[in-house]
Amino acid sequence: MAPDAMREAARSLSDARPVSYWLDDPGKPVARPALTGDERCDLLVVGGGYSGLWTALIAKERDPGRDVVLIEGDEAGWAASGRNGGFCAASLTHGLANGLERWPDEIGKLEALGARNLDAIEETVARHSIDCEFERTGEIDVATQPHQLDELREWHARTEELGLGGFEFLDRERMRGEVDSPTFLGGLLDRRGVAMLHPAKLVWGLKEVCLGLGVRIFEHTPGLALVRSGAGTAVRTPYGRVFARDVALGTNIFPSLVKRVRPYTVPVYDYALMTEPLTADQLASVGWRNRQGLGDSANQFHYFRLSADNRILWGGYDAVYPYGGRLDSALDQRPETFLKLAGQFFACFPQLSGVRFSHAWGGAIDTCSRFSAFFGTAHRGRVAYAAGFTGLGVGATRFGAEVMLDLLSGRGTERTALAMVRSKPMPFPPEPFAWAGIELTKRSLARADSQGGHRNLWLRTMDRLGLGFDS
Ligand SMILES: Cc1cc2nc3c(=O)[nH]c(=O)nc-3n(C[C@H](O)[C@H](O)[C@H](O)COP(=O)(O)OP(=O)(O)OC[C@H]3O[C@@H](n4cnc5c(N)ncnc54)[C@H](O)[C@@H]3O)c2cc1C
Repeated sequence: MAPDAMREAARSLSDARPVSYWLDDPGKPVARPALTGDERCDLLVVGGGYSGLWTALIAKERDPGRDVVLIEGDEAGWAASGRNGGFCAASLTHGLANGLERWPDEIGKLEALGARNLDAIEETVARHSIDCEFERTGEIDVATQPHQLDELREWHARTEELGLGGFEFLDRERMRGEVDSPTFLGGLLDRRGVAMLHPAKLVWGLKEVCLGLGVRIFEHTPGLALVRSGAGTAVRTPYGRVFARDVALGTNIFPSLVKRVRPYTVPVYDYALMTEPLTADQLASVGWRNRQGLGDSANQFHYFRLSADNRILWGGYDAVYPYGGRLDSALDQRPETFLKLAGQFFACFPQLSGVRFSHAWGGAIDTCSRFSAFFGTAHRGRVAYAAGFTGLGVGATRFGAEVMLDLLSGRGTERTALAMVRSKPMPFPPEPFAWAGIELTKRSLARADSQGGHRNLWLRTMDRLGLGFDS
């Protein structure tokens, strides 16, 4: 970055609060008291992010008489569910391209189930009046390099071949008519497949609905160990135990209580900035009347969107993998990444020079080698888990919740019949191989971005093996 640009980027960050904008809200509810003593229930849900809350909510909707307890080690929504970009996508497969690559025979079904899942989120939000700023705006994939424009054109043709409606190719002029940046060469608009929402307000709304349905929620209550207990399972917590017939684990990137699940995911830290609210003139200089979410099409990509009060969330770089896969809250703040992100923001929107960022934060994404969730059971089918959403879990976690409940019910459903549900990703190797492989992949992806998308031998080999690294 040129010295002037670096100075502008640094100045824009001088007042940024080092917390997720979404969680820094006076409406944040007070945490529920921790569990003290023993509890018994039909279903114990571990984890108070979207996965856990959707599981508890849907369990109650399927059977209101079921006694459900949810424990959360910290506070509901403090982790990925309260820090993400708020892009709530229909895709269950981390995008159509990844889904087609891995499950070509069932892509039609996966797309239809994903669309139904997003409709169900919209319907639940409306039915329970969850004020999470849900806007079904759609999303535009933006090309900023000529080879990306060709790829988007090809993708548009592919969606038409597959009979997927709602996609539209935007040439440069139409793209800049939607959202104006001198770097935009064109885009692919997905009109129906993505909604924007306020991530933390969705968590808090789901929590309130769960409480209203009779779910007993205990926060600051980490599950420490799973042990067999009679026909069911017991989970030990610092001040008590929960005895349950069934257990659902919505614990994302945190060490799974089922140890054999751990090698399937690695934490990848992803970062976001939020601007102060734009003035009417600033907003007019960008356009953005239809308020879609945007993502650029590079391997190392940015995602950006408007908030309800017309701030711009600008997220993406860097995808940081900590050696050993250790979770480290020190990585939530990474000034060198914030500087890079701010510089890239002003390069994209030079007309917003002088805008300042109010918040800067990061969080861990549960990356798995196939970029989309995997599912399974343990303890003779009495414990179910869903993890590995890899940066596209805002919508897909609701589907994961349904799969966990299907698996615990022991009854086959159209979801449990899917190859995607029945198969597992390749686990990550132990260190130092995981670190070396991930670093080599990251460097190769950066090189591909700067060399017209050309994938080197390493990336082509990974592609052939169906392995990858993404956020
Ligand atoms: C910076 C960032 C941006 C992102 N942007 C997007 C986006 O725009 N769109 C999108 O679709 N996805 C995005 N994601 C991913 C998305 O946020 C996640 O896929 C989703 O929130 C996962 O929800 P979850 O409930 O499975 O996990 P989490 O929200 O991580 O919740 C898991 C919870 O389980 C609790 N827990 C773990 N272990 C235990 C235990 N033993 N006992 C008790 N509690 C436990 C944790 O404390 C935590 O609260 C992003 C993620 C990040 C970090």
